[in-house]
Amino acid sequence: MSTLALAFDLGGTELRGALVERGGEVVARVSEPTMAGAGSEAVIGRIIALANKLLDDHPQAKVVGIGACAPGPLDPKAGIVIGPPTLSGWHNVPLIDILGRQFGLPVRLENDANAAALGEWRFGAGRGTSSLVFVTVSTGIGGGVIADGHIYHGRRGLAAEIGHMTITSESDRCFCGNVGCFEAVASGTALGRQATRLAAPGDGSLLRRLAGNSDVSARHVVEAARAGDAAALQLIEAEAKWLGIGFTNLLHLYSPDLIVMGGGLSNGFDLLAAGIRATIDQRAMHAYRDVPIVPAELGDRAGLVGAASLILWEGEPGTALSMVQNEEAKTGGPAGARAG
Ligand SMILES: [Zn+2]
Repeated sequence: MSTLALAFDLGGTELRGALVERGGEVVARVSEPTMAGAGSEAVIGRIIALANKLLDDHPQAKVVGIGACAPGPLDPKAGIVIGPPTLSGWHNVPLIDILGRQFGLPVRLENDANAAALGEWRFGAGRGTSSLVFVTVSTGIGGGVIADGHIYHGRRGLAAEIGHMTITSESDRCFCGNVGCFEAVASGTALGRQATRLAAPGDGSLLRRLAGNSDVSARHVVEAARAGDAAALQLIEAEAKWLGIGFTNLLHLYSPDLIVMGGGLSNGFDLLAAGIRATIDQRAMHAYRDVPIVPAELGDRAGLVGAASLILWEGEPGTALSMVQNEEAKTGGPAGARAG
């Protein structure tokens, strides 16, 4: 069996673990509810139990380290989970130290959006690029920036809080306390809220019928739009405009080769793409308009494989494709398993 990393994606609701190969293949995968309310010690105990299960089930596995991702804010260099709003009782938890002592393996930590950006860049929709912005549009909006072959961390690893850039002066209040955040107007939650306001319970609208007459979610909007429902199509048009405005800012700020859109709402990417593109063509300066906007490819394993790559690709910039190209340039032939 080839060299593997243990990978963990610690979410507010689900804790996922996997054994991942260097090429991004997931060899084995386990998950269970995080039960975040139980506090950090209990959750770390579950991480250790999942790790032991993966190792016991694969006694031949050559595991060389542990890559983990968790919600921010966290300090990737110090290996400390600072205190995510979705994980109660986590305050400055030295996760790298704890897991390193437990397993005697090197451990790397990254915030979940950055890990997903790494995953899509190395193994998914972003293969072969040197700069990309990954945007996840779901309950909130998060993201990660790969700039010139590296994660862009900024001070204390806090860069790329894409969801909280202000893009308008009026909106519902964002959970961060501000008004007009990208997330407050364009997240899946915001789209569902708009739809819920638009249709009243029992009004016979498709949106409310799909929602069983309770609150309408973004998923219902996408479903109704696919059925040609006029109200849903209008909501999708407005959503695409907000996404296009946010993406235009990202193009101007980071000049990526590619913007990759993931998260739950990327299930409706085909419906949103034309509106996003039209807004970018209207608002972005000419030199930025030809940058492709593409859906993510890895779904909910992006964070796991990205976290694994922190171990398996350590010290190696670039993506699978650029490594192959480098190797070919050096040897004049196809790449071996490992670039030098
Ligand atoms: Zn905000």
